[in-house]
Amino acid sequence: KRLSQLCSKGTFEEKYQILDEVLGAGQFAVVRTCREKSSGKVRAVKLIERKRTSQERLGLEIDMLMRLRGHPNIVGLYDVFLTDTEVQLVTELVPGGELFEHLVSNGPYSEAEAARFMRRIASAVEYLHRNHIVHRDLKPENILLTSHDPLLADVKVADFGLARMYTESAMQTVCGTWAYAAPEVRNDPFGYGPKVDVWSMGVIMYVLLVAYHPFDTTGKLSEDELWYKIENGMFDFRDKAWRKISEEAKDLIDRMLVLDPEKRLSAEEVLAHPWLSGCQQPLNPLSPR
Ligand code: ADP
Ligand code: MG
Repeated sequence: KRLSQLCSKGTFEEKYQILDEVLGAGQFAVVRTCREKSSGKVRAVKLIERKRTSQERLGLEIDMLMRLRGHPNIVGLYDVFLTDTEVQLVTELVPGGELFEHLVSNGPYSEAEAARFMRRIASAVEYLHRNHIVHRDLKPENILLTSHDPLLADVKVADFGLARMYTESAMQTVCGTWAYAAPEVRNDPFGYGPKVDVWSMGVIMYVLLVAYHPFDTTGKLSEDELWYKIENGMFDFRDKAWRKISEEAKDLIDRMLVLDPEKRLSAEEVLAHPWLSGCQQPLNPLSPR
């Protein structure tokens, strides 16, 4: 599809008023709040410098976001505009901040809370994979919360900046964040697929439960040291923080942080694991959308 066909009619300025708040800034983009003039609703807008992204990459990201707006745990896209210098992606505002910030300020989560978040993250990832999309950059910075109150918060997976369509011919770029990256990302850059997201979810789950990283428990390892531990699957549950955590939780992590992607669980299997399927709760009625 051509880029212009994916875009909304008119201009961003006709439909929205930019607001002062800056929600975040990444490598290629700044995310700000804006107000839809007709409804008064506040949304987020990701402003991406055009010169930093190829037409092809842009088209893929937009097309992908458009097709994914149906899932409650994926940040929804409302409008896309292009100017000579910018791409303007208007998305739903996710006002609770990054899961990462909550983790830092609230410490580890209880198993029940962690399971609630993991079920939603896994549901979003399973939906992505069903649509032949690998996120590739799953980490707590890219998982946003709908509320600052952890009891009310629902999660939304964001930032498909590095996500790509995967086809039978495997993906080819080495990218993502090392601390959450699966071993095959570095060892076999031509051969990795959706299971890389399951590995990242395994790291996220471990971090949610104890608030330290499975492979970098002190946060002080060099990149080489970190990779050595990842490539050899060197993590354990020996720390006393794990004593009170259920065997089901450890079993699920053990099945996600498997070196061989063939033997690693799929997102669908993660959802069916007793630790996640055993504690079904209705979706929070207070969460938006
Ligand atoms: P990048 O590709 O540059 O990393 P992201 O899409 O991850 O950009 O956005 C950067 C940061 O902006 C996020 O980590 C988050 O803190 C914030 N952010 C992004 N989208 C939203 C949104 N829809 N609602 C609220 N905050 C957001
Ligand atoms: Mg990001």
